[in-house]
Amino acid sequence: ILDIKNLSKSFGSNQVLKGVDLRINKGEIVSIIGPSGTGKTTLLRTINWLEKPDSGSITLDDVTVYAETAKKVDIHRLRSKSSMVFQHYNLFKNKTALQNVTESLLIVKNIPKKEAEEKGFEFLHTVGMEDKANEYPSRLSGGQQQRVGIARALAVDPQVMLFDEPTSALDPEWVAEVLDVIKRIAGNGMTMILVSHEMRFVSEVANRVILLDGGNIVEDGKPEQVFNHPEHERTRQFLQKNR
Ligand code: ATP
Repeated sequence: ILDIKNLSKSFGSNQVLKGVDLRINKGEIVSIIGPSGTGKTTLLRTINWLEKPDSGSITLDDVTVYAETAKKVDIHRLRSKSSMVFQHYNLFKNKTALQNVTESLLIVKNIPKKEAEEKGFEFLHTVGMEDKANEYPSRLSGGQQQRVGIARALAVDPQVMLFDEPTSALDPEWVAEVLDVIKRIAGNGMTMILVSHEMRFVSEVANRVILLDGGNIVEDGKPEQVFNHPEHERTRQFLQKNR
């Protein structure tokens, strides 16, 4: 479903991604782990072109965008096929939970208001937030805001959901409820890429773990294999420090 080829990205003289190749199949739940500053977020952001790569290509479903020749219409199509859940939720503060979720349905998909609201309630139900549909973000806890963020990402009907450390900005008391929601959605067969520092969660939910280090993929395998029998010394060192 997703095919990343030879993807490179630099910020000034800092080459963050050095020709990354990555194929992800439908229904896979892939977790990207690795040391701080190694480009995990950058890789995730290039998938919906929030970050423009310097070279390489991204194929998602039936769209391929090449860094060198990227056209606006293709970028637009690529973006419509994934959705991102951010560390800091990024909800619209002046919109209710329901309005945050229905925004893309009304504006991007042009669905009539009543139908969009019905769907919005369904997505809020999936994340256990339908009873807070009319609240503004400022009246919701961090965990609740993030659940609305997840409902909003679901509403796009994405081919793949991209999670960028979805629990790292949360107070510890709210982490479990957000992880539960992510697990539930994973159980429904959604394809997911998840950047996370929560190794326990990663080993529970992911069916594939990738270690990114030094601008490239160092290790790629099932959680059991990567966590218990890593092939590379770099992986062993990372796990020693982060478990
Ligand atoms: P962390 O685990 O700490 O979130 P990460 O693996 O997600 O890190 P990135 O956020 O992708 O790493 O950043 C990779 C490198 O790129 C870092 O050195 C960072 O400082 C740099 N970087 C990221 N975004 C920008 C930007 N917009 N401008 C300049 N440098 C950037």
